[in-house]
Parts: sequence; structure tokens; C-alpha cells
Amino acid sequence: MQNKPQGLSTRCVHTGEIEDPQGSPHTPIYATTTFAFASTADLLDVVEGRRAGNLYTRYGLNPTIRSLEAKLASLEGAEAALAFASGMAAESALFVTHGREGILCIGDAYGGTLELLAEQLPLLGIPTHFLLGSELDQLESVLRQNVGLVFFETPTNPALEILDIRRIVEAAHAHGALVVVDNTFATPVNQQALALGADLVVHSATKYLGGHSDITAGAIMGPASLLAPIQGWRKNLGQMPSPETAALLARSVRTLVVRVQRQNESAQKIAEAMQHHPRVARVLHPGLAEFPGHRLAAEQMSGFGGMLTIEIKGSGQDASRVVDRLQLFAIAPSLGGVESLATQPVTTTHHGLTPEERNRRGITDGMIRLSVGLEDPEDLNRDLEQALA
Ligand code: PLP
Repeated sequence: MQNKPQGLSTRCVHTGEIEDPQGSPHTPIYATTTFAFASTADLLDVVEGRRAGNLYTRYGLNPTIRSLEAKLASLEGAEAALAFASGMAAESALFVTHGREGILCIGDAYGGTLELLAEQLPLLGIPTHFLLGSELDQLESVLRQNVGLVFFETPTNPALEILDIRRIVEAAHAHGALVVVDNTFATPVNQQALALGADLVVHSATKYLGGHSDITAGAIMGPASLLAPIQGWRKNLGQMPSPETAALLARSVRTLVVRVQRQNESAQKIAEAMQHHPRVARVLHPGLAEFPGHRLAAEQMSGFGGMLTIEIKGSGQDASRVVDRLQLFAIAPSLGGVESLATQPVTTTHHGLTPEERNRRGITDGMIRLSVGLEDPEDLNRDLEQALA
């Protein structure tokens, strides 16, 4: 029993929880900014790293945050994790720490990530490169340029394109570049990117890890040696989540597996129903046998996820009319919560791109991205049916 590794659900519930003298089964919220010591020598033991301990919350040296980080690490089978105030805080700390030589972003990515990479990091002298998933034949030649870090999401937003993690890792490592996978869409339940060879995993914990649309947070998981320099940036850029947020995130992670498994099942049912709808031109979901990335997804994922994109027959305005008529799905640009959300990428996540760039990336005006929540899938299907009618 002792030697057998615990399953993901067990780890979600138990890993990282501290033993509370008052008997709380969960790590309490230590809503304090600083911690007191028995003596100067005791303080110096923590400051000088001879003993792990609590010191100052912005440094992450707070029991609630350290407890959360142990749980987050275990989700991805990682040695360590760092919690952040948002997914973008995590990404920016990661890029300025390990991306200074140059960053290659493959495939589509969240709009904020693209803006950071294309417009802001170059202002700091950080070279950034971009390749679409369909341009992987150019991977070798780009890697020969100044690239120290390769970053991608899989599945991607909003087309749910599946990128081959092992293949990209092999090419990147041959050129000495680190590989970072944004595992936000997949979740650790459906994809273990570190086990597939990635060096680091990053999350917008605002999405599935948080799962209730009530916290903004981020995380990076990986080896302690790669996280240590990121921690220094996090500390001085002031990117810590509060202990209250950390406790809420730990609460959410305890139910991660059951939520995601249910979201996987419901998204599959909705994708299959929508596939045959006369007003729907295409359904993009990795769980559909017809989906171009299905085989690769079946190889590198253990579930196909709760996200799908439908492309309606008609114009962008027609798609807006469908979205506006939805009653159960809320019109909102986020994902991963208990409530189902719908968004037209052209109006939200990819609004900032030129029509030419959207076209190049295959993002059409008729696309509606759905984040499937925990409602009954029959009710969600009925809602889509009435809106499409
Ligand atoms: N990564 C992905 C895949 C996202 O969808 C988002 C936000 O939508 C982010 C990162 C950024 O996360 P946050 O909003 O928590 O900063």
C-alpha cells in the first residue's frame, strides 16, 4: 500500500494538506503577511535556507500557499510548483526567467499570451517567433535561430488543434531549448505533459483548476531547479496569490477529477449531437473520430476535454444571433467553470487580431466556442437546439 503511488483523485484530496492542531481536515487560511520566530537564529535558518519555513507571504513562504503548491505539484507529477496571482503572471515570470534567449510559440494561443509575446516582450529585447501548427516542417530551421524556450498550448484555443508534445520536445531538446506546455485546456486529468517530456507546465488556474469562476490564479509545475529562478522574479514582481485565493484554489483542486471527467463526458455528448445538426457546418472536438487531431489526442491524452467549438452555417452576425439566444450558456470569454459558457472568438479571445491573421489561423466569424459546465448535458443540448432553430 505504502509503496504504490496514489491515484490522481487521492492526491487531489490529500496531498499538501497540513496537520492542523485544531483538527481541520484541510489546511487553514493563514491570513497573515509575516511570520514570527523564536529567535534571530531561528529566523536566519529560514532566511538562509537551512530549514523550510514561513517568513513573508509575498515570498510564498506562507503555510496556505506552500500547502497549495505541494498539491499543484502532485497534479502534474512534478517535483515542485509555484502559485501565481493569474495565468498571465505565471507566464510572464516564466518568459522573463527562461525565455530571454528567445521564445518560439507554436500554434494558436490565448490572446493575452500572443500580445505579451508579440508586442511586449520584444520591448525588453526578448526575441519571439511564431509557427502555426501547420508549419511544423519549419520547426528545425526556427530552432536554429535564437530560441531558448518553446511554448505551446494543446489543445489550442479555439480550434482545439492537437500538437504532438513528444515530437516538439524531441526537436527542441536537440537544440537545447526548454519546452513549456500550457495545460490549461487539457487539465492534468486529461494530459500529463511532463510525463510526455515537457520541462515545465503552466496553467491559468482561473479555469479548470479553480473550476468555479470565482478565483483568478496561475501555476507553474516542474523540477525545483527550473522553478527556483522563477521564484525570484515572482517575489520581486509581486505576483503572489493571496492566502485566501490559495485556500479557494486548494478547495477546487479537491474536486478536479470528478468535475473534469463529467465535463469530458458532457462535451463528447454535445459534440456528437451538434455534428449532425443541419445548421452546423463543423464541430471541432478532439473526441470526435472525424476530428483531424483525434488519433494524436487519443495517444497523448487520457480524456478529450470539456471544450468544443461549433462553426455554424452562416455569417458572423448569424453566429452572434445564436449566441444571443442561448439561455443556459452564459455569454462570457472564460472557460472551465461549473457553468457553461459560450463565446464567439472573433468578439473576444481573438478580437485583437486582424481579419487576415484570423483567416491565416483558421478562426472564422461563424465559430462559437463552448465551455461545457456541470449542467445536465440534455439541457445544454436543448439550449443549443433552440438557439440554432
Ligand atoms: N492560458 C490560457 C490557455 C488561457 O485561456 C488564459 C486565459 O484565458 C490564460 C492562459 C491567462 O490566464 P489568466 O486569465 O488567469 O491570467
